[in-house]
Amino acid sequence: MTSDAHWLAVAVATPAHSGIGTPLTYRSAQPLPPGTLVRVPLGSREVLGVVWSALPEPEPGLVKSAREVAGTLGDLAPLDDHWRALMAFAARYYQRALGEVALAALPPQLRTLNPTQMARRLKRTHGSKNSTDAPDELAPLKELSQEQADALLRIEQESGPFLLFGTTGSGKTEVYMRAAARTLAQDAQAQILVLVPEINLTPQLEARFTERFGAESVVSMHSGLTPAQRLAGWLAAHTGQARIVLGTRMGVLASMPHLALIVVDEEHDPSYKQQEGARYSARDLAVYRGRLVGAKVILGSATPSLESWERSRSTEEGGLGRYVRLAMPQRIGAGESGSGMPRVRRVDMSRQPRGTSISPPLLQAIGERVERGEQALLLLNRRGYAPVLHCGDCDWKSECPYCSAYRVFHKIDRTLRCHHCGFTERVPRACPSCGNVDIGTIGRGTEQLEEHLAELLAPLTRPDGTPVRVARIDADSTRGKGSLETQLAQVHAGEVDVLVGTQMIAKGHDFRRVTLVAAINPDTALFSSDFRAPERLFSLLLQAAGRAGRDAAISASSEMWLQTHHPFHPLYEALKAHDYPSFADSQLIERAQAGLPPFTHLALLRAEARSQEAAQAFLKEAAQTAKNVLGEDSEMLPALEAITWYPPVPMAVQRVANIERAQMLIESPSRAALQRVLTSCQPILHQLRTAADHRGIVRWAMDVDPLAV
Ligand code: ADP
Ligand code: ZN
Ligand code: ZN
Repeated sequence: MTSDAHWLAVAVATPAHSGIGTPLTYRSAQPLPPGTLVRVPLGSREVLGVVWSALPEPEPGLVKSAREVAGTLGDLAPLDDHWRALMAFAARYYQRALGEVALAALPPQLRTLNPTQMARRLKRTHGSKNSTDAPDELAPLKELSQEQADALLRIEQESGPFLLFGTTGSGKTEVYMRAAARTLAQDAQAQILVLVPEINLTPQLEARFTERFGAESVVSMHSGLTPAQRLAGWLAAHTGQARIVLGTRMGVLASMPHLALIVVDEEHDPSYKQQEGARYSARDLAVYRGRLVGAKVILGSATPSLESWERSRSTEEGGLGRYVRLAMPQRIGAGESGSGMPRVRRVDMSRQPRGTSISPPLLQAIGERVERGEQALLLLNRRGYAPVLHCGDCDWKSECPYCSAYRVFHKIDRTLRCHHCGFTERVPRACPSCGNVDIGTIGRGTEQLEEHLAELLAPLTRPDGTPVRVARIDADSTRGKGSLETQLAQVHAGEVDVLVGTQMIAKGHDFRRVTLVAAINPDTALFSSDFRAPERLFSLLLQAAGRAGRDAAISASSEMWLQTHHPFHPLYEALKAHDYPSFADSQLIERAQAGLPPFTHLALLRAEARSQEAAQAFLKEAAQTAKNVLGEDSEMLPALEAITWYPPVPMAVQRVANIERAQMLIESPSRAALQRVLTSCQPILHQLRTAADHRGIVRWAMDVDPLAV
């Protein structure tokens, strides 16, 4: 072949099941450095690709068949080594094709631009005001609290990663901003990434950062933007123009050549885990990326994930001290009297008439608030927990006899199934413990609660004698664009007295006149088949409690109400004491005993098929084949022996659009062993799927570090 041909490995978004996990070989007339964005032919189309590496001249067969790079995207700087290393890691760790992960991390509009259009966009990016200018009028900075000052000092002096464990309202955001300011001051090019769980819910954060650093320095990155805005923000980050990137989980994949600080706010939030495609955890990737590029990482939360909590246990406490824990227990302006958090009150629902949705004492307490012109916030549990059966008379629940887990009620075939060990039984006709025939799923009837609420609250009146105004905020009521903001603005303006909603309303809002927060049916999460449900519940309730009494003048009367059948449950006891550490420690003991994360590592292998049998048969054979094949490889044997394979079970939501879904849990105390085995399973799975016996398989996927099993 001609000597002036250059051979390149180019990452392209190959279809999920093509089985091509590695970059493809192309020929180019020019040498193109790794990271260059190119357009290349793929099948009958021309697609966007990223040059991954230069290759030596391939074998003659490939020399003939390899196709030619169609062109570059103009003057765009190549994606740097760090970014490519991050993509490679994410693809490897989350068991997806490199091209899929890398291309999904780029703004969609890049795929459609020609070089001329690209040049125009770039000019626009560079043409905007110089971002290093500080805003003209700086608001005077507040004096830091002692806790904030201490935390900042350690962030400056130590390398981290840091777990900023700070109560709601303790001034974590102020710490992020000061750390950011210092980073920017130290290096004229430094860039900062701030991740938040849901940017739509936190416009305040954007406002605070732009106020402090100037709108020109800050760009946002989230799925609510138009394709043009996404591209503009991405280019600003990639060219170094943007000094601060505020983003949802996708932000962690942004190209930021001068990244020096990463903040992950509300690091415990489940929305950091992507739930389709490459199911990455943005929090975990943030920590990895920080180490990769030498950027400091701050994870912030009032209720850290148990993973981060465990990692931040100091060596004196018998932990590994992998993260530096920085505690800020005091609310700003809390004064001498404690943490400034509301008082927790529990209503024992087993002493209320059956079917009570809002107990009389709670109703009265809400009425008192409304009459005083204050606001109340009523929290409903989101639906969608895998259902667990329960007897209202004797409190029996569908526990698995072999695991510390609740078995899930599968309506389709009326079975109870353990999602850990697979143990399955028919649903009993009556309570196995007391014989009561009226057994049902925990939390049944919450759907009607909302209608009922309006009726119950209708007699209440406001200080001026007008009727109470109730508003509801949840996924249904906020579907329209901007409707959440409108509704929240009404609450802030005091046009709403009682706000009813799901967990959406507990996050990040600053409702100054709320003096009562009530959890209407929190027990549903307490007894869930999802082992992380108690952790979520605690975090949700504490966060919700943080909504109350933000206004110091009325905070003395702030209360958090819990309606529960288990008033003395350790979770509620810890909540009453606002004691996250004791809750976390008790949970960690349970997790250790049950062999659950963070003490073991999990992966789910999922399959979808025309029938449940086909999906399960596929998973079963995959496990068997993997054990056989890997068992013959002496190098793989130690890893294989560290793996527990559980039997396939139907997923909690077992059938979607006539497709049956099954899953299989794979577990190991060793993350490295799990990784090795999963990677070795990839070719086996690809092969198995094309085998004649598994024609019915629609697709399969792996979920590494799944949120729920
Ligand atoms: P968090 O992020 O921990 O919930 P914030 O950073 O939002 O807390 O701080 C809570 C409130 O206290 C905000 O209104 C903030 O402006 C204010 N605040 C933060 N730090 C200080 C300080 N050092 N002095 C006075 N007010 C502060
Ligand atoms: Zn019973
Ligand atoms: Zn079990």
